This record gives sequence, C-alpha cells and structure tokens, in this order.
Amino acid sequence: METDDDANRIMIAGGGIGGLAAALGLARRGRAVLILEKAPALGEIGAGIQLGPNAFHCFDALGVGEVARAMAVYIDALRLMDALTAEEIIHVDLGEKFRARFKNPYAVVHRGDLHGVFLRACREHPRIGLEVDSEVVGYAQDSRYVTARLASGATRRGVCLIGADGLWSNVRKQLVGDGPPRVAGHTTYRSVIPANQMAEDIRWNAATLWAGPKCHLVHYPLSGWKVFNLVITAHNDAREPAAGVPIPQDEVLKGFAHIHPKARQIIHIGKDWKYWVLCDRDPVENWVDGRVALLGDAAHPMLQYMAQGACMAMEDAVCLAHMVDAFPEDLEQALVAYRNRRVLRTTRVQLLSRAMGEHVYHPDGAHAHLRNSVMRSKTQEDWYESLAWLYGSNGLEDNNFGG
Ligand SMILES: Cc1cc2nc3c(=O)[nH]c(=O)nc-3n(C[C@H](O)[C@H](O)[C@H](O)COP(=O)(O)OP(=O)(O)OC[C@H]3O[C@@H](n4cnc5c(N)ncnc54)[C@H](O)[C@@H]3O)c2cc1C
Repeated sequence: METDDDANRIMIAGGGIGGLAAALGLARRGRAVLILEKAPALGEIGAGIQLGPNAFHCFDALGVGEVARAMAVYIDALRLMDALTAEEIIHVDLGEKFRARFKNPYAVVHRGDLHGVFLRACREHPRIGLEVDSEVVGYAQDSRYVTARLASGATRRGVCLIGADGLWSNVRKQLVGDGPPRVAGHTTYRSVIPANQMAEDIRWNAATLWAGPKCHLVHYPLSGWKVFNLVITAHNDAREPAAGVPIPQDEVLKGFAHIHPKARQIIHIGKDWKYWVLCDRDPVENWVDGRVALLGDAAHPMLQYMAQGACMAMEDAVCLAHMVDAFPEDLEQALVAYRNRRVLRTTRVQLLSRAMGEHVYHPDGAHAHLRNSVMRSKTQEDWYESLAWLYGSNGLEDNNFGG
C-alpha cells in the first residue's frame, strides 16, 4: 500500500550506473528515491571501463570519491598504435602534468566494481528504495504526480520519473518515440584474461588502442593488475543488434586477418569471447516531458569510442541532483534546467564518438597516413588543451560543451 510520503519520492527506471548515481545524488540532497529495475538482480557485465578525470569529479560530488579511487588502476598513458605497422602513432601522458591540469586522474576499473560502489552506497542510504523485477513499461502524469506502469500490471507513484533505462529505454519510447536505436554496423568482441596470460611484449600499463582499416583493438589492465580487459571491434556491417553473445575464436579472427601479428595475437590470447553489435542514436533535444526526464544512455546513447558513456551518465546524475536542489518547489523547471545544461555537451560527445570511429580508429590508406601525420604533429600540451572542455568539467558549468 503506497502512502502520501511514497508519492513524494522521485522514481528512477533503471539501476545501471546512471540510475544508481542519480539516486545517490538526489538522496544526498534530501530527496526520497525509488529505483525500479527490470532485472531480477542488479549487476554489471565482467568487463572494464575507462574513466576520464570528469568521472572522478562526479565521484567526489556524489560522495564516493575515496572508495572509487581505491578500486581503480591508474594507467600511465593512452597509447594509439598503428595496427598495420605495429608502430606507436601517439601517446597521451597521464602522469603528474595531466593530473595537475585536470585535478584528477585517468583510470580504468572493473564495471562490476564501479557498479558495486554505487549499489552499496544506495543500499546504505535510508532515503533510497530499490525494487527488482520491475520493468517500467509506460507512465501517466498530472500536475502533481507521475504514475509508472510496470510490466507486472502494478503501478508506482512519485513526483518525478527519471528514465535511466538504457539504450532500449521504454521511457524514451513514450517520451521521444524515435523507434529502435541505429545499428552502427560495428561488432565489438570482449574477453577478460588473467594478467599473466597477456603477451609480455604488450603487457603495458596503458589504455592501448590499435587502429587498423575497419577495425581496432583495445587492451588495459584491471582489478589491481589481476586481469586484462580485451575489447576489439570490426566494422563488418552487422545488421542485427546483439549483446553479450558467445562466439568462437575462429569467428572473431575473421575481421582481423589484415593486421600486424603483434596486434592480432590479442585475439589468440583472449578466451570465452562474447560479442555486441553496437548501436547509438542521433542526438535529440526533447529529454523532458513535464515531470519525466531521460538520463544516461536513455537520453544520449553513444558508441564507446570516446570512452565516455558512463562518464556522461554520472555527469547527468550530478547535474540532475543539483537542479532538483536549485528548484525544490518546481520540479518541472528543475528538469528543464537539467536538460538545458546537459544537452549540448552530450550531443558533442555522441557526435565525436562516431567521428572517432570514422576518422581515427578505422581509416585506411591515405586517410590513415593523414591521421598519423596530423596526430604526430601534436605536443602533449596540444592534447591536454584539446581535451580540456571534456576532462576539466563535471558537466555542471555553463558552456561545458567547449563552445
Ligand atoms: C563495448 C563498450 C565499452 C564501453 N566503454 C566505456 C568506457 O570505457 N567508458 C565509459 O564511460 N563508458 C563506456 N561504455 C558506455 C557505458 O557502458 C554506458 O554508457 C553506460 O553503462 C550507460 O549507463 P546507463 O545507466 O545509462 O544504462 P545501462 O547501463 O544500460 O543501465 C540501464 C539499466 O536499466 C535497466 N532497465 C532497462 N529497461 C528497463 C525498464 N524499462 N525498466 C526498468 N529497468 C530497466 C537495465 O536492466 C539496466 O540495469 C561502453 C559501452 C560499450 C558497449
């Protein structure tokens, strides 16, 4: 039986990184929150995630900075390699100068660890409730309340509904109605291996990306250097969306026959490969419908090529909590202010993520030679300068899109 107090809560559809971060941000500002998660249990896949300094700005704003810092692996560099010649194109030094410039580190973490940090903090917070097996299928609203409809036929009531329900968001389906996501035609294969099984000649303390014609390969250490995360991608014009489907190694190798053996060995080293056919969406501006708003991948799903999807979801969470606090008596205005502050920055990252695939990760021939020459002409200072709009912000400031 719901009480009037229950009705004053903010409901969040989705207990992923974005939904949990938003719940924590709102609860820390004194709001009661109910998370409605579709899955029977909360968790994340066993792979890695890269976090720019902007993610650490968010951890601090959400009160989990210390525990998040303790689980991260601090890599020395972002390395871009030519997958045909096995030569380094450039690296971005992530040492003292980088940290001093952006006031925080660049790091890599295990997804489960990161999700766990937020989940523990949410479970320990007295103002946050969490219901699993609760898929939100739609909503209705009047001038005071939103009613979320669940797949079970039950309903839940609150003062707002935040759709943090990911790429295939039902809340977005009703709010934006722009159909299924765009299939990018790129297939990503993931594997996690014990660190001692990683080839010694590439066992680097770096987030390394090998860029080759219509493919790229990424690897970095995780979990206190216990494991290596391998993520490789082929632009193979795949048509059907897929997520986490097991695939034999021979099949994976097919998209990578043309690259240097030093890079290709990554596929031989990997075990238990699974694949995802990548999807994103064109940016949209209508994230808000009265007392309902979108957040994270539900609002701005992007290819992973800027390594920023989760970082943007956490920034959304910080901004949403800030705006709800700033307009406590007018939640509709708070949601509009949140959207206004976030939309250009996330649009830029969505579009840049696509451009990175086309112009940096997958070109061939003259296009690839141009990439190498242009990128090699830049100094470390140039790289820091070009990343300042992204890493130097937690997405809350005006003009946070680098305009
Ligand atoms: C290969 C790959 C590599 C990536 N690497 C990086 C990286 O290095 N750095 C980075 O920052 N980002 C990275 N990303 C992006 C990042 O994973 C996502 O942007 C991020 O997880 C989005 O979080 P979210 O909470 O918005 O959505 P999700 O993580 O998708 O969470 C949505 C949650 O909602 C639940 N749900 C779904 N529908 C409903 C419903 N109707 N009702 C209730 N619950 C529902 C789901 O079960 C899930 O728990 C990568 C993505 C991929 C695919």
